[in-house]
Amino acid sequence: MRILKPRWTIEHGIDDHVLEKIEKIGRTCYKSEDRITQDSAAKFVKMLSDRGHFSVLEHHNITVRFQCDRGVSHELVRHRIGSYSQESTRYCDYSKKKFGKEVSFIDIRPFVHDVAYEEWLEACGESEKRYFGMLDARASPQFARGALPNSVKTEIVTTYNISQWRYVFTKRTTDAAHPQMCEVMRPLLVAFRRLMPVLFDDIGVVDPVYKVCPECQCKHFTPATCRTCDWVWGKQPLSDWIALENERSDQKRLAMKSS
Ligand SMILES: Cc1cc2nc3c(=O)[nH]c(=O)nc-3n(C[C@H](O)[C@H](O)[C@H](O)COP(=O)(O)OP(=O)(O)OC[C@H]3O[C@@H](n4cnc5c(N)ncnc54)[C@H](O)[C@@H]3O)c2cc1C
Repeated sequence: MRILKPRWTIEHGIDDHVLEKIEKIGRTCYKSEDRITQDSAAKFVKMLSDRGHFSVLEHHNITVRFQCDRGVSHELVRHRIGSYSQESTRYCDYSKKKFGKEVSFIDIRPFVHDVAYEEWLEACGESEKRYFGMLDARASPQFARGALPNSVKTEIVTTYNISQWRYVFTKRTTDAAHPQMCEVMRPLLVAFRRLMPVLFDDIGVVDPVYKVCPECQCKHFTPATCRTCDWVWGKQPLSDWIALENERSDQKRLAMKSS
């Protein structure tokens, strides 16, 4: 079994011309295309957003690939104004070589510690054993998946228009949202804000998700004492931290296999 960190990649839809594109479309309403200048886009788009003229933001789509657990993906697909393509537990057979002949799970360690975490690890291991047991007994993956829990890793490619991204961030980054949802959505919102501040600065929550740093166990995340703390304070790209965590998980797995 493999324990992975959640992650995301912006696949499509962010380039230097997003604001210009929205400005050009939006100015149709006022027939003010003649007022387009080299730096007019940000101000115009902010005006649209401040006035709640969100339909203009629907002209542009952004696509993100998430690696998360199936609990989180199930919450994502409740958002109806979007398109999804998801790894299928009907068609994927995790006993195959391309999946490493093992089932992958998304780590809950940052939120659950000690005995509860050990229980979770055991439950994942047991579910993997039963899943392979069912395949050995000639059940197809689409039935063997019944033995797998919500923590199973999935990949889901999600496309929303900008207006819908704003809506989803508003719902899925607050303290009312599931912490594992916030774990992916808050850093994604940080990235969106860095790339398109005019469109995303005024919505959602980007506070640290972890109460205690999962790496160095500090409670305040400052001064930054490890790479996780560094990420939480926005100084280091999340992707670096995730790559490091996944590398560690691989090393642990290999060590366990060889012992
Ligand atoms: C913190 C949290 C807790 C939740 N808990 C639960 C739970 O316990 N159980 C549960 O079942 N769900 C739960 N949900 C899911 C929630 O009920 C919604 O299904 C989900 O958030 C999708 O949002 P939405 O329906 O507002 O809009 P989306 O599907 O994202 O669509 C965006 C907006 O488009 C409009 N729209 C879309 N489709 C229609 C339509 N057919 N008719 C009219 N207008 C439409 C609406 O204005 C809508 O708000 C929870 C969500 C959150 C954020």
